[in-house]
Amino acid sequence: MDGMAAFQDPELCQGLLARLESLLRACGRPVRFMEVCGTHTVSIFQSGLRSLLPEGLTHLSGPGCPVCVTHDAEVGAMLELARRDGVIIATFGDLLRVPGPDGKSLKHAQAEGARVRVVYSPLDAVNLAGENPGATVIFPGVGFETTAPGVAGAVLAARERGLGNFCILSCHKLVPPALRILLEKSPGEQERGIDAFLLPGHVAVVLGLAPFRFVAEEFGRPAVIGGFEPAEILSALCVMVSQIAEGKALAVNAYRRAVDDGGSPAARAVMDKVFLPCQARWRGLGLIPASGLELRPEYERFDALRRFGVSFGDPRPIPGCRCGDVLSGLITPRECPLFGKTCTPQHPTGPCMVSTEGSCAAWYRYQGV
Ligand code: SF4
Repeated sequence: MDGMAAFQDPELCQGLLARLESLLRACGRPVRFMEVCGTHTVSIFQSGLRSLLPEGLTHLSGPGCPVCVTHDAEVGAMLELARRDGVIIATFGDLLRVPGPDGKSLKHAQAEGARVRVVYSPLDAVNLAGENPGATVIFPGVGFETTAPGVAGAVLAARERGLGNFCILSCHKLVPPALRILLEKSPGEQERGIDAFLLPGHVAVVLGLAPFRFVAEEFGRPAVIGGFEPAEILSALCVMVSQIAEGKALAVNAYRRAVDDGGSPAARAVMDKVFLPCQARWRGLGLIPASGLELRPEYERFDALRRFGVSFGDPRPIPGCRCGDVLSGLITPRECPLFGKTCTPQHPTGPCMVSTEGSCAAWYRYQGV
């Protein structure tokens, strides 16, 4: 059996499920764990793991999908920029349908004549700027610590090439400050609390273990970095539940084949060279201190907001959308009154239904209405 297939081996998974069940019995109480990574969300649903989890172990999908946490105000700024003369918005495709103020998206702006192009990397956007010297190319930087180093690299590349017509709209989010807010809101050991975190493997590749230790040390909840194959997820859950059974709370790296405890100093260095932490707006979670990234003063000429005199407004929330409660683990998608009725993947009302990594979209696709 080759390396990857080993992590999908049914016998191994059955053994781990049996172990998980016995650890859960030893806990003597139900356990609610939250993952904060779109890839974990999809993997848990797609592999069928969610329906195999022992009774008493509840899976919550937190704010781990990059487009789901992109705030209405940020989408509003993208739309405002898209309307400006001579602007090309160069974006990843999954941002196109994310609804902003009044349900409008970049897709609508494109239909109304705005120049919106799909790119596959931030460097593609830099190249687009090189090919269109008469236009200003704006790349909306969304996502977490995984994507920020690539966007920082694009800013450095544009500076190196002397491109004055490239800039970014930084909507990046940092995961650890969001976990802190969720824990501060979460009562723990109660009906709707979060007992433990399955930490995002991709973000941990960049950050390592240290930025997540506070989950265990300050809040007394296990925090386990896990991989994405079924056996890796189950192993991480066993580590988590065994801690609860033993009355412990530790931050553990259970994804050693990809994550170094120290993370990637090179990726963090390029990110730190270009960005500074700043307050950021999260869809559903509101303003969180030091949870976003803004360009350092020496790179501010690459800041689209500054260049075009645009600011993040204060749009009205989408009526009836409960994405904030879904992302906080307070309700399941099915408990949103719009789920499967007016809100579907074909016609999403809220951002959690847009991306395949969104909690509502995953529920719709794999659990049904
Ligand atoms: S079902 Fe739609 S409207 Fe409801 S929380 Fe999910 S994305 Fe928002």
